[in-house]
Amino acid sequence: MEAQSMYDSFNRRINYLRISVTDRCNLRCRYCMPAEGVQLLSHDEILRFDEIMEVVDIAVARGVDKIRITGGEPLVRKGVVELIAMIAKLEGVKDLGMTTNGLLLEQYAVALKEAGLMRVNISMDTTDPDRYREITRIGDISLLFRGIKAAVSAGLTPVKLNCVIKKTPEEPDAQLVKRFAEDNGLQVRFIHEMNLETGYFRPVIGGDGGDCKKCNRLRLTSNGIIKPCLFSSDGFSVRELGAAIALEKALRAKPKSGGVNSRDEFYNLGG
Ligand code: SAM
Ligand code: SF4
Repeated sequence: MEAQSMYDSFNRRINYLRISVTDRCNLRCRYCMPAEGVQLLSHDEILRFDEIMEVVDIAVARGVDKIRITGGEPLVRKGVVELIAMIAKLEGVKDLGMTTNGLLLEQYAVALKEAGLMRVNISMDTTDPDRYREITRIGDISLLFRGIKAAVSAGLTPVKLNCVIKKTPEEPDAQLVKRFAEDNGLQVRFIHEMNLETGYFRPVIGGDGGDCKKCNRLRLTSNGIIKPCLFSSDGFSVRELGAAIALEKALRAKPKSGGVNSRDEFYNLGG
């Protein structure tokens, strides 16, 4: 069956769904979470895999062909490899990726590849061990280096590095990441540190995010809210409305450009 195409009110074709599978994380990046961590959702609030798959099935039938698994840290969600396998089996899915902090990739890269994950974006804001600990508050950078290596050897390519910058890619930490990427044949994308509440965002340097004219995305949060935009407080509950109606409402609610979001945080939206 020929897949449909889905367009929003501004005639942008929406073919990309980002799915946050958990609000939990094994890091505490200073721009994403408070030091003490966050009030976590209860087990019952988090969508089960069959509920996620219901959204995915409908989205793919409507023309989504690109899916990214994110979080929180997606690799701390129990069974995430099985979820990847279920999504990878769908014929309409042409691009299946994951955004991860990479710390658990040494453990999971091969299984993810075998399950059908195509590629990973790995967050790396510096290559300096002390700065890494400062930024993530608790991270051990040696796990990140090993995770990146494991992703490359498992063939989860192209491996792209996501590097959050304060102001410019000329910053010392960003330059370290740039050099590491060059030395290891990896791509790097520089993401301005954003602020949901003030609506501060800039286009991703080396990527597609943050450019409203080209936006092709919808987001599903781990508790089942379909979000029209990172920078919008709107959201539609899959459990309350049913997956098809929540998806349709989110599509219709896509704003021409991002505003402010006073309801969410990066760790529940998945970036
Ligand atoms: N834990 C995974 C990771 O860090 O890659 C996936 C979730 S994380 C929320 C997704 C992306 O959002 C990461 O690349 C992270 O750097 C980015 N991010 C988090 N907070 C941000 C902020 N305030 N501004 C810009 N990017 C942010
Ligand atoms: Fe965790 Fe990713 Fe947020 Fe860092 S950016 S605290 S790794 S969810």
